Amino acid sequence: PRRRGGRTAGAGTGTGDKNRAWRNQDLEERSQRLAAATGGGLRRHRANVSKKHMPNSSTIKDGQVDISEPITVKTLSAATGIKANEIIKKLFSTGVMATINQGLDIETAEMIVVDYDIELNVKLAKTAEQELIETLDAREKGTFVRRAPVVAFLGHVDHGKTSLLDKIRNAGVADGEAGGITQGVGAYRYDKDNQHVVFLDTPGHEAFSAMRARGANMTDVVVLVVAADDGVMPQTIEAINHARAAEVPIVVALNKVDVPNANVQRTLAQLAERGLNPQQWGGETEVIETSATTGHGIDTLIETLNLEAELLELQAEPEAPASGYVIESEMDPGRGVVAKLLVRNGTMKLGDILLAGKGYGRVRQIIDWNGKSVDQAGPATPIEVAGLGEIPEAGDKFFVVETLDKARQVAKDRHEQTRTKSLAATPAQSLEEVLSRIEAGQATELPLIIKADVQGSIEAIVGSLNKLSTAEVRVNILQSGVGGISTGDIALAEASGAIVIGFNVVAGAAARSSAETKGVDIRLYRVIYDLTGDVRRALEEGLEPEIREEVIGRATIRQVFKVSRVGSIAGCMVNDGIVSRNAMVRITRDDVVIEDGRTLDSLKRFKDDAREVRAGMECGLKLAGYNDIKEGDILEFYKRVEVARTL
Ligand code: GDP
Ligand code: MG
Repeated sequence: PRRRGGRTAGAGTGTGDKNRAWRNQDLEERSQRLAAATGGGLRRHRANVSKKHMPNSSTIKDGQVDISEPITVKTLSAATGIKANEIIKKLFSTGVMATINQGLDIETAEMIVVDYDIELNVKLAKTAEQELIETLDAREKGTFVRRAPVVAFLGHVDHGKTSLLDKIRNAGVADGEAGGITQGVGAYRYDKDNQHVVFLDTPGHEAFSAMRARGANMTDVVVLVVAADDGVMPQTIEAINHARAAEVPIVVALNKVDVPNANVQRTLAQLAERGLNPQQWGGETEVIETSATTGHGIDTLIETLNLEAELLELQAEPEAPASGYVIESEMDPGRGVVAKLLVRNGTMKLGDILLAGKGYGRVRQIIDWNGKSVDQAGPATPIEVAGLGEIPEAGDKFFVVETLDKARQVAKDRHEQTRTKSLAATPAQSLEEVLSRIEAGQATELPLIIKADVQGSIEAIVGSLNKLSTAEVRVNILQSGVGGISTGDIALAEASGAIVIGFNVVAGAAARSSAETKGVDIRLYRVIYDLTGDVRRALEEGLEPEIREEVIGRATIRQVFKVSRVGSIAGCMVNDGIVSRNAMVRITRDDVVIEDGRTLDSLKRFKDDAREVRAGMECGLKLAGYNDIKEGDILEFYKRVEVARTL
């Protein structure tokens, strides 16, 4: 059975509720479907059911019946009082041969009981992990202390993220200790004069959102680095979008104020334009002028981050068993699995039993961010530990547990979950899913990411989409920009459940495969009216567009031969899929669509005419009525397919 909630199952304490919400929504949808099927509402249907359907009605409970997963014929019978034979008969009438121990999905169980005026209240089976989290939550709490904020640097390339971090590292190290610094922990803790900050070395916006997509919101504050000589740039805007989507407060480091052509006022104005109104101008956003070269402003930045932490009331309990997130991990030939962890709460000690992702084991070694071996590590500490039996993934949660047995159980559970997840293989979020959530009243937003060929298109699209928003449903544009759809867009879409819209652009190869594995819905358009029309239809009727394009293959033009009276012949390499003589063709240059809706005059493999040419092979082709092709252009071959409306 399809489980929407499966994707986030057991990822943290908060997700239990979320799962319940999903489940409730599933039930809601099902009753709607049932209602539709009986052509007149569940209630009316029930009223029409004659009592002769209910033998032994005295033992049958009507109304709400609690039942927990997994449901079998036997447990359904026990919970509802409907005889097992009756259930088996009913199943038989729908073509299912069932035994008493037959497992039933929720939908089937509901179908069976609907005639008995019973509504099922399905309780999710608790996973070992949920039980573990519950016992941890139920622990008697010790004292809480303030915890250092965890900070990530985001911003445009070359604006000084790395330099600032380096400068802070040097400033935060006691004299003479500088030599011992390793950069390998993936995070660094600054401790000086009672000021503490943990800096995550996020390799980019994508990594930031990828972690979030896996349920790891490690970052308490984002430091947005903007160079004063360059101002707000495309990746600055992208960074703002990622931070906003994560609902993490932003502190701006206005860097490179030492360079002669630094223009602080202009940059402040650009920030204000993006909704980051500087405090200097009476706004909300802390903007600190810094220089990674001279060290100017670094102390103020650290102080500001500590103040921010105070505002956020970040707390931790040092006596608790350690828990937190995996930053990254690898197999070390000498030490076995080595995991870089961020302890969020509690204290990790040598000999503790650690459970991280699907791995578990006894902690044999703890190395701190300075590369020193230590016996223990308290809250908000980045460390490296050895002792796990299996490599956990970045973003996995870790816990210290009481017994190896318990650790083994949860790890086994997680293994199974991954298996069912990969079996389910439903898209993370498709337009249809968002719409059904909107319909069920579970969502009030349609989150979108928009990429287009030119800035003018974006303005036009955003303008007309915003007009479509109603009181009940809002179009929420998380990110928009010029250029092809990137892996960063896909990461943000996955983390935020957004749909990616490309206008006159396509997705690069990496973005495409990432969207495929993550189940992110990409929609490509070339006419604004089609785009807004689809979104309007989607919002109004919840209907999927009927005609969709299915890309069947791509080829790169390696060489162009001009033949007089014939035109340009393209010598191509088929990159993926197949190139078909009868398919439609679109020509893209640097991910921007330059021509579309073309067909082929001819397709040849060596000297012979070919109907199809497969990936990895070369071919020669001539586009019908179009000669303006160049080396390096990518040809996308597609078919128009009719898709059934599903809602
Ligand atoms: P990143 O891509 O954001 O990590 O940027 P880097 O830290 O690699 O910095 C890019 C370049 O800008 C390097 O050549 C740095 O030396 C230089 N740079 C960074 N911060 C400053 C600064 O505050 N002042 C000056 N003058 N140069 C800086
Ligand atoms: Mg850098």
